[in-house]
Amino acid sequence: MIRDKQVPMREQSGAERIRNFDEVPYGYSDDEAAAEAARCLQCRNAPCIAGCPVGIDIPAFLLAVKERDTARAIAVIKTSNALPAVCGRVCPQETQCQGVCTLGKRFEPVAIGRLERYCADWESTHPAAPTSVAPSTGRRVAVIGAGPAGLTAAGELRKMGHDVTVYELLHVAGGVLMYGIPEFRLPKAIVKREIDGLRQMGVRIEVNQVIGRIATVHEMLAGGFDAVFIGTGAGLPQFLGIPGEGLNGVYSANEFLTRTNLMRAYLFPEYDTPLRVGRRVITVGGGNVAMDSARTALRLGAEESLIVYRRSEEELPARREEAHHAKEEGVDFHFLTNPIAFLGENGRVTGVRCLRMELGEPDASGRRRPVPVAGSEFEMQADSVIVAIGNGPHPLVLQTTPGLELNRWGNIVADPETGATSIPGVFAGGDIVTGAATVIEAMGAGKRAARAIDAFVRAK
Ligand code: FAD
Ligand code: SF4
Repeated sequence: MIRDKQVPMREQSGAERIRNFDEVPYGYSDDEAAAEAARCLQCRNAPCIAGCPVGIDIPAFLLAVKERDTARAIAVIKTSNALPAVCGRVCPQETQCQGVCTLGKRFEPVAIGRLERYCADWESTHPAAPTSVAPSTGRRVAVIGAGPAGLTAAGELRKMGHDVTVYELLHVAGGVLMYGIPEFRLPKAIVKREIDGLRQMGVRIEVNQVIGRIATVHEMLAGGFDAVFIGTGAGLPQFLGIPGEGLNGVYSANEFLTRTNLMRAYLFPEYDTPLRVGRRVITVGGGNVAMDSARTALRLGAEESLIVYRRSEEELPARREEAHHAKEEGVDFHFLTNPIAFLGENGRVTGVRCLRMELGEPDASGRRRPVPVAGSEFEMQADSVIVAIGNGPHPLVLQTTPGLELNRWGNIVADPETGATSIPGVFAGGDIVTGAATVIEAMGAGKRAARAIDAFVRAK
């Protein structure tokens, strides 16, 4: 008989984990993984495969886990996904593969993400079979940006036998996986391990290389590259544009998370780069980035971490699991609340002036528009404020590439199937095309573009 519920995954309790930056869930044991994989119905039409943006053969890997052949399972996953330990942890499976799982129509869907993570973690403690790389084609491809889109394109192109160099402006590769998503959700050692796998395949990754400054896209094409892939992401923070945003203690989520992750603020005093948040931290926003910021603030020592969001709980864009974890840890949500000014003394933030909101008619996004309640102004005390209301496209490459067509939001216009842009030989994918989206969507775009780049450079 099929179990109606997923095998639960053990995790640190809320009270315990806000005192450390260790990963929250522990992962499945061998027996737990085999029991969960046995819930799969091995559907002939397997809707889960189409639900996965990179098309992993999910029933095949689940069967291998059930049969306790994890080497076979990870081999199946890796034919479609170069970063399974990352995706098993941060993909929104509930709206993708698990969202369409046949078992989910009556019971809880198979915990595909947890099982993907199990297989990837197993591989880290077992010798991996080297990924096969086709003989050299003599073609050279440049990839700009070492986030999930760029790294996936690079890995796929390398497997096809091309000579691939990735240029990354930061001192580490990984994009948001390294500088944005916190250690307690995605340990950086795991990201590094997956990137090392790409290096072992022969992908060259050059860090501290700001494209648009050291060279432009047109110069790269003229200088010997047969094609260029742009995967520069959405790393430009957006602000509210309200009074007081320049006060000390008001951070963009980008700065706050980068200082915590990349500058290791969470390892103070081992690293001399502290981030003092004070007693009460207010995060503005309702997405995954806001959840990560509010949860990070608690771990950095805040006694109270509040989220202020202008719509209601139903419209919260964060993954349910992230909002649930935040609540478990004591993050205090203030819905239908909108900041109109940051207040300060001696140049430092001391509070936020807010308005209460109510939901009106649906807007262009289909969500009900929040409208202010007349005369509802009030103030909240804060020692630090984090603004997590979204990111725009990274501008430098766009500004230095004449002829590259952009849409009205400033994102690159690219063919969704091939990533081809308005410039022959220049392809693009990930957040720089779609606006802020997800890791697996960026990877899917990198993979599709790699196929198109392969055809383009071979035809040259
Ligand atoms: P990025 O990851 O942004 O990588 C782009 C890279 O290009 C960066 O490394 C950047 O430094 C580099 N670059 C930019 N300009 C240049 C230049 N001029 N020269 C050289 N290099 C350049 N998604 C999920 O699926 N699940 C989650 O749980 C989740 N949580 C998130 C939490 C946070 C805090 C954030 C910020 C995002 C989160 N996302 C999540 C979204 C996800 O991380 C992104 O959609 C994904 O990383 C996009 O990949 P990308 O490769 O397009 O861009
Ligand atoms: Fe298994 Fe669900 Fe995929 Fe069916 S849809 S094959 S039950 S994971």
